[in-house]
Amino acid sequence: MITKIVSKSQSTTWQAELSQAFTNPLELLDFLALSHMPLAQQVLQRPQFSLLVPRHYAAQMQPGNPADPLLRQVLPILAEQQQVPGFSHDPVGDQKAEKTTGLLHKYHGRGLLITTGACAIHCRYCFRQYYTYSRHIFTQLPKIIENLQADTSINEIILSGGDPLLLADARLAQLISQLAHIPHLQRLRIHSRLPVVLPSRITKDLIHHLTATRLQTVMVIHANHINELDATVQQALQQLQHSGVMLLNQSVLLRGVNDNVADLKALSEKLFSSHVLPYYLHCLDRVQGAAHFEVNEIEAIQLVKQLQEQLPGYLVPKLVREVAGMPYKQPL
Ligand code: SF4
Repeated sequence: MITKIVSKSQSTTWQAELSQAFTNPLELLDFLALSHMPLAQQVLQRPQFSLLVPRHYAAQMQPGNPADPLLRQVLPILAEQQQVPGFSHDPVGDQKAEKTTGLLHKYHGRGLLITTGACAIHCRYCFRQYYTYSRHIFTQLPKIIENLQADTSINEIILSGGDPLLLADARLAQLISQLAHIPHLQRLRIHSRLPVVLPSRITKDLIHHLTATRLQTVMVIHANHINELDATVQQALQQLQHSGVMLLNQSVLLRGVNDNVADLKALSEKLFSSHVLPYYLHCLDRVQGAAHFEVNEIEAIQLVKQLQEQLPGYLVPKLVREVAGMPYKQPL
């Protein structure tokens, strides 16, 4: 049964929800009844990459569990301050791939547009946490469009960020319309964590903007653990899929979050029952401050082998690593 899409009058709910997000680590610990646990002593209270956690996401965490896999993804801890050799501010070579401000060109046929520096959640392992976002990305848009018009080898445009679905509807609609006027573009790919962390963003109006275009729309969501996929998230995904948006998922393999076969298998199965195909399982991008999340490649390969023994092939995500300067993600 198709679930009713939220009405227009509710279309600003997500913005109100976002304004209520947790920004103080101690308040989040308090909410989870963890203030008096040893974990509280490890918390960074004013990290450079601030804490940001929507209440919907926090509500999926288990109160009293300091090892909660969702909490671990968002809580700034002292381990982030360790300087570990091999970990850098730009592990995937974004700065070098910038063709013009806001437009990255890494892979043949695809251009990636940095639409905003804002996210609805701050993931501690994020490879773009040190990226220098232009303050006024949209002032660069004419130049970006000019570049895309001139490069006929590009047939797919990726909206990334930050999170492109944090753009207001009108701005997103205007951007999609401008892109659709470039004749050689065929696909619009949107990388977003919002369907998972702020499902109220998936409104009827948003779906209209994503689908009322001649471009074929693909959305790559980002879920790392089955506990992120509650009924509300599943409804949002169902609405997208029923409206014709192709849904894929990419996860990051993270120590203490999803580094075991049972959790990875459960995630793949839940994704599929939510109309999403597991697409990539990324090895951690070696960004400074995230070394405590790393799972080594030998272990990662073993995990995926075990997944292959237990799941049909279409539910086993491709294990990859992004290597700066390489023309595609490297399969492991
Ligand atoms: S939502 Fe994506 S871009 Fe934003 S902090 Fe998380 S991983 Fe980084």
